[in-house]
Amino acid sequence: MDFSVYNRLRNIQDWLFPGNCLLCRARLPAGADLCPACDTSLPRPEATCPRCAAPLTTASTSNCGACQQRPPAFDAAEAAFRYAAPVDRLIQDLKYHHRLALARVLGGRLAEHLAARGIAPPDVIAPIPLHAGRLRERGYNQSLELARVVAQRLDVPLAAYGTVERIRATASQTKLAPDARARNVRNAFRVTGDFTGQCVALVDDVMTSGHTAAALAKCLKRAGADSVWVWVVARA
Ligand SMILES: [Zn+2]
Ligand SMILES: [Zn+2]
Repeated sequence: MDFSVYNRLRNIQDWLFPGNCLLCRARLPAGADLCPACDTSLPRPEATCPRCAAPLTTASTSNCGACQQRPPAFDAAEAAFRYAAPVDRLIQDLKYHHRLALARVLGGRLAEHLAARGIAPPDVIAPIPLHAGRLRERGYNQSLELARVVAQRLDVPLAAYGTVERIRATASQTKLAPDARARNVRNAFRVTGDFTGQCVALVDDVMTSGHTAAALAKCLKRAGADSVWVWVVARA
């Protein structure tokens, strides 16, 4: 388990001194998590594809080239940030270094982004599930931690535990060539809940190729979902 002394200390610091900037440790008024300078340094996306949230070079309401050629199984996507410094470090700390206090901060930013974009609430929110083995190893699912925060802020229920499962332990998508990614997540998920007629929002920390979200969206649609949205903290 990758849980260094440094990160243990950071974790303790997060709890002991919640009034410090999470990035530069500057003192802040109680309740604040980032100082104004660090806040403006966050990589907010400019123009994005409405279908997959990929960054676009020019502001446009039409889908990116990839989505026009091969639309993904999900219907729309939103990303609060681009996957770049310093958000990449915060996400890695949440995902691999047990800094769970970051779920509240990053989930909160995602909820604020959705509100600013005027996104209507879905019927239900579901995290991208981890395989049971991976969950045992890590001890928590960062997507669930984020989904909890977003669900609470938006007052939308979370999908009942166990209704959306990852049944195959898959290799990390980031280590695979782009053409191997779709194959890697095929049949990785099982949906046992009834999502008939529902609009489901999937929450995850990062979306890279979108194949993982698309594979799960396909399962949800087979389970009756009317539409599936993908909400991520950051889009690579
Ligand atoms: Zn700061
Ligand atoms: Zn797209």
